[in-house]
Formats: sequence, structure tokens, C-alpha cells
Amino acid sequence: MRDPDCIFCKIVAGEIPAKRVMETEHALVFEDLNPAAPVHCLVIPKTHIPSANDFATVDAEILADLLRTAAAVAEKLGLAEDGWRLVTNINRDGGQTVGHLHLHVLGGRPMRWPPG
Ligand code: 5GP
Ligand code: ZN
Repeated sequence: MRDPDCIFCKIVAGEIPAKRVMETEHALVFEDLNPAAPVHCLVIPKTHIPSANDFATVDAEILADLLRTAAAVAEKLGLAEDGWRLVTNINRDGGQTVGHLHLHVLGGRPMRWPPG
């Protein structure tokens, strides 16, 4: 469903512009507004799911679509062979700033570990 105050729900609805990269039945991929790497896309469910804390109650078909779409976008943007990073931040300590589940697809440079 949709949260009327959610910016990512507004992007899904086309009410806020975004550079769209890919779309599937359940997922939308667009470029991050403030990229942290040469490639930085966000894979989001089209329905409003707050975070990965909700995975237990989310339809498995949606979860599978999100993960497959993340891999497909990495392949499409040429990241697969050299490598890339898939991240989802959860709530305050995880550093989540937008309360609509999103998978960060990051690549185009070597990633450091551990994260901050
Ligand atoms: P989080 O910190 O919640 O894991 O990630 C939120 C991400 O959303 C950030 O990387 C931020 O740059 C991105 N972001 C926030 N607002 C917008 C927006 O309106 N459009 C786009 N394309 N990205 C956004
Ligand atoms: Zn939302």
C-alpha cells in the first residue's frame, strides 16, 4: 500500500521525479540523489514496506523480486564482474533516513570494510 507522507511512495507514483533505471512487477530502481559511489542506485518495493524489520511478513515473491532486481541492475550497469555492494540500513542505529525499504546498489570503486 501507500504512505501519503513517504517520498519513495511519491517517486513510485511519479509525483517526485527520479532517474529511473529499471522496473519490475514489484520493484523500482532509480539513481540515488546524493551518490556515495560512481554507481549508486536504490531498489525499492512499489508498496510501502518500512524496512527489513518487516521481512517476516512481506510476500516472498516481493522479496525475491527485490533481490533479483538488485543483481540484474548490477549486471546491467557493468558491476557484476568487478564486484559491488548491496546494503540496506535499518532504523536509527542502521542509519536509515527514509522509512521505505530500499536496497542500495553501490559500485564502480573498491568498497571499504568494515563500514562506519
Ligand atoms: P538511507 O540513509 O535511508 O539508507 O538511504 C536513503 C537514501 O535515499 C540516501 O542515500 C539519499 O541520498 C536518498 N534519497 C533521499 N531522498 C531522495 C530523493 O528524493 N530522490 C532520490 N533519488 N534519492 C533520495
Ligand atoms: Zn513509502
